[in-house]
Amino acid sequence: MEVKNLINGQLCTADSDRTADVFNPSTGEVITQVALSSDADCDRAVQAASNALQAWKNTPIIDRARIMFRYRDLLEQNFEQISALITTEHGKTLAESRAELKRGIEVVEFACGIPSLFMGQSLSNIATDVDSDVQRHPVGVCLGITPYNFPAMVPMWMYPIALVCGNTFILKPSEKVPLSAQKLGELLLEAGCPDGVFNIVHGDRSSVDVLLAHPDVAAVSFVGSTPAAKAVYAKGTAAGKRVQAAGGAKNFCLVMPDADPDLAVKALAAASFGCGGQRCMATSIAVPVGGIADSLVDRLSTHADRLTVGPTHQGDSVDMGPLIRREHVEHVESYLQAATEDSARVALDGRRGFDSNGFLLGPSVVDHVSFDTGLAQEEIFGPVLSVVRASTLEEAIALSHQCEFGNGASIFTSSGAAARKFREEFNAGMIGVNVGVPAPMAWFPFTGWNGSFFGDLHVQGAEGIQFYTRQKVTLTRWPERADDFEDPIWSSNR
Ligand code: NAD
Repeated sequence: MEVKNLINGQLCTADSDRTADVFNPSTGEVITQVALSSDADCDRAVQAASNALQAWKNTPIIDRARIMFRYRDLLEQNFEQISALITTEHGKTLAESRAELKRGIEVVEFACGIPSLFMGQSLSNIATDVDSDVQRHPVGVCLGITPYNFPAMVPMWMYPIALVCGNTFILKPSEKVPLSAQKLGELLLEAGCPDGVFNIVHGDRSSVDVLLAHPDVAAVSFVGSTPAAKAVYAKGTAAGKRVQAAGGAKNFCLVMPDADPDLAVKALAAASFGCGGQRCMATSIAVPVGGIADSLVDRLSTHADRLTVGPTHQGDSVDMGPLIRREHVEHVESYLQAATEDSARVALDGRRGFDSNGFLLGPSVVDHVSFDTGLAQEEIFGPVLSVVRASTLEEAIALSHQCEFGNGASIFTSSGAAARKFREEFNAGMIGVNVGVPAPMAWFPFTGWNGSFFGDLHVQGAEGIQFYTRQKVTLTRWPERADDFEDPIWSSNR
C-alpha cells in the first residue's frame, strides 16, 4: 500500500526526499515507506484546513453529526480490513486490533450525539429585562499527533470530536504506523466530509515542529512518550495554542491477600503482556501486599510462560505478537540484563530464542525489584512485569507518590474498605477495582496525572468537547422605550 498525505480532499505525494521504513513487525520485513513531509507539505495542509474552516463551522450541526453516522457505518463495513491493517503494521493480535477499533468507533458514536452535547445554557431576566446565554464555538484548525501503539484508536480519540464541534483537523500519525490512519481518512471522505476539513500529514518530529509553530493552528492534541509530550506542551503553549498532551506511564497493580487469586493472575497477565506491554495503560509494576508474593509470582510466571508468542499476521493463533521494532526489543531486553546487576530475580525470562525474523520477545516477570531502579521507575513499554513487594496497603500506596507518572492503577481485593482507600489515596488519574486495564471508554475523559499528562482538559468525553470549543456569553436587552438609558446591571439602584 502506498502511503500518501491527505490534503484538501486529495491523496497526494509528499514533496520530500526524506523517508522512513514501515515494517511488518511479525516478519521483520519492510512493507512500504512513508515520506516525511516537508515544511511546504505541512503549510499546504494548514492552508487547506484554514480555507475549509468557515464553511464547516457554518454547516448545521445535525449535518456534521450525520457525516459521523455515515462514518460509523463505513467503519463497521470495513472493520475486518482496518483490523488487519492495524495487525500488519503494529504486530498486535487480530483480537487486540478489533478491540482497539471498537474503542475508536465508540468515540465516533459519542460524536454522533453532538447536537445535544454542544448545547449551551441560558438564564432569562438575569437583571431587569436582561437575558443571558452561553454558546459554544469551535476553536479553529486543530492538530493531532499520535503514537504508534494504537494506530486507529488514539487518532479516533481526537478528530471525531474536534470535527463535529466545527473545527477542521490535521492528523500527524506516527511514522511507524501510517497505514491505518490513511484508511480512516479515506473512509471519512467517503462519508461526506468536505475537502480540507480533515487532512493527514505524515512525518516525524520535524513536521510536528513546523505544524506547532504555524500561526494558523489553534489547538494541539498530543499522545506519546513523556519527553515528547513535555516538549510539545512547552512549544505549543509558548506559541499561544491550547494544548492537551498525554505522555507515558508506569502503571501499578496491587494484589491484596484477600484477592481472588485466579482473577488476579489472569487479569494481571492480560494487563501486563497484552499488546506486548505496549499500552499506555499496561501494568508494569505488580505489588503483592502481605504474604502472598511467593505464590503470586509462581502462579503468574507459570501462566505467562504458557502464553503463545509469535507472528500475528496469519490469524488469531497466538496470545502475544511482536514488539514494534528490533531496536525496541533490544531496549526492553536491556532491563532484563539490568535486573541481574540490580540483584532482582528474573522469575520468567522472555528471551526465548525465537525461530523467526519478527521482533519477538516473550513475557518476563522480575521479582524482588527495588523501587529505586530503572525497572520500577522507567517506562519500559514491553512485556516485562516488575514485582515490588509491600507489607501493607499504606506502604503500597506510598510508592505511587514516588513515581514520575500517574496514568492508571488497579487493585485486586475482596475488601470494599481497601478498594475505597486505594481509590481515594493512590496517586494516579485512572483507577481499576478488580479490573486490569482501567482505560475509560469514550464517554469519560482519559485522565492521566503527573508526568502522564500536560494540560488542563483531557481527551474524550465532555472534556474533549470543552477542549475543542470556546464559549461566548451574550447579554441581551430589548428596552421598550428608547429613553430608558439606565444600565440594568451596573446601575447603583440595583
Ligand atoms: P513518541 O513520543 O516517540 O511519538 C509520538 C508522536 O510524536 C509520533 O507521531 C512522533 O512522530 C512524534 N514525536 C516524537 N518525538 C517528538 C518530539 N520530540 N517532538 C514532537 N513530536 C515528537 O511515542 P511512541 O513511541 O510513538 O508511542 C509510545 C508512547 O506513547 C509511550 O510512552 C506510551 O505510554 C505513550 N502513550 C500514551 C498514551 C496516553 O494516553 N497517555 C496513549 C498511548 C500511548
